[in-house]
Amino acid sequence: TESAKTGWCLESSYTSLPSSFYTVIDPNPVNHPQMVIFNKQLAASLGLNAKQLQIDAASLSGNEIPEGSVPLAQAYAGHQFGNFTMLGDGRAMLIGEQITPSGKRMDIQLKGSGPTPYSRRGDGRAALGPMLREYIISEAMHGLGIPTTRSLAVVATGEPIYRETELPGAILTRTAASHLRVGTFQYAANWTSEEELRALADYAIDRHYPEIKDDDNRYLSLLQEVMKRQAELISKWMLVGFIHGVMNTDNMTISGETIDYGPCAFMDTYDPETVFSSIDVQGRYAYVNQPGIGGWNLARFAESLLPLLHKEQEEAVKIAQEAISGYPELYKQQWYKGMRSKLGIFNEEKEDETLIQQLLTMMQKEKADYTNTFVALTFNRETVLSKNQDLADWKARWQERLSRQEESEAAIHQLMRNSNPAIIPRNHHVEAALDAAVNGDLTVMEKLLHALSNPYEHSEKQVAYAEPPGPECGPYETYC
Ligand code: AMP
Ligand code: MG
Ligand code: MG
Repeated sequence: TESAKTGWCLESSYTSLPSSFYTVIDPNPVNHPQMVIFNKQLAASLGLNAKQLQIDAASLSGNEIPEGSVPLAQAYAGHQFGNFTMLGDGRAMLIGEQITPSGKRMDIQLKGSGPTPYSRRGDGRAALGPMLREYIISEAMHGLGIPTTRSLAVVATGEPIYRETELPGAILTRTAASHLRVGTFQYAANWTSEEELRALADYAIDRHYPEIKDDDNRYLSLLQEVMKRQAELISKWMLVGFIHGVMNTDNMTISGETIDYGPCAFMDTYDPETVFSSIDVQGRYAYVNQPGIGGWNLARFAESLLPLLHKEQEEAVKIAQEAISGYPELYKQQWYKGMRSKLGIFNEEKEDETLIQQLLTMMQKEKADYTNTFVALTFNRETVLSKNQDLADWKARWQERLSRQEESEAAIHQLMRNSNPAIIPRNHHVEAALDAAVNGDLTVMEKLLHALSNPYEHSEKQVAYAEPPGPECGPYETYC
């Protein structure tokens, strides 16, 4: 059969949910689908036959629907910059859940695939540049060991789309543990019945947290598990200097994967107030605000779960508040754990917090490159920090701290190598790769992707990508 050749093994468990959660849609064929980039390694791990699919851009553009697929758009709501509204897949369709050779269930979603009932005033389409950008950053995040949706392919549609100017259209195939969002629960809580909300929560538990199914209050367990995953996720963002840029509740997953790469970017110079997104004028989603916004979003999740937490509203609120109040500590622990590793510290001492904060204060004051400062410390090279008494004192305290643990110098060095990436997707390299790719030269992007697939390698090859942007680059700004 056809699917034996391509390797598609699609199921559609989402359609077992009440029909209020999705709309089955007709595909929107495009003019002239052409494969721009295809992720062979990811394809193989999904059990897909890379060769067959690569030739056949049709099924990754929506022109052909693979066997077993029930294309649908998902309903969800969300707080966008604090304002609650109905959303849903306005330019995406879920073509199904691929069952991988190792038995995992992965959503396969086409992004930019045309209008849906949730498109509102949008055209349902996406431009080639931004879809390639999502491809690069999501694959870089995967390389860094950060939970994320991934990118299987970008197909050019052969159709123009209209933004400020005319741009080439494209469709990204995105894979995800699922596309369940905090916003999916907000939608359920606001626009469906309690029974439907319960069906959604049970589906999420089944899919992501089956081990809590028999807990006394499994919906409280769900809240706690999502809190844990998000605390871990956001701490990982912070530790590599990633700024998501649009942490609306519809862009926060229940699985704990990073989702929706729009105006996101990595910080070069360490500055907690860094914002790249042109639309984030208030700095709501600035680097330093991400952990707090995570907590705010989780509180919205807790609110959505209220009717399931306890049959008495007052009790439910108490349960939710108590759970949510644990988030700051949960986050803090994860972040300090990661920071200790970046500095080669294996065990915990109360004074570590001061040691870490002192380093960050020096970095901020001196506008040090975030990534390269930690790499320099790892290899005992000079940092960009000025060689003054503060730095000398700090280094002495740090060395003293390292000597108070049992681990050998070699073990400490290895921990630091594994915790401090040599490279991140620097904005100027991402832009150069995209410029070339949009003009038909994919080699720059492919080289960059190759380097980013192994960011902890610390080899000579990486050096070209480690340089911070020069002053000629100016401040970096991103657009949705
Ligand atoms: P985002 O800001 O990427 O999280 O998207 C917010 C909402 O806008 C989601 O419901 C998207 O599906 C929708 N959306 C974004 N771009 C378009 C578009 N070009 N056409 C239709 N809907 C869109
Ligand atoms: Mg989104
Ligand atoms: Mg988006």
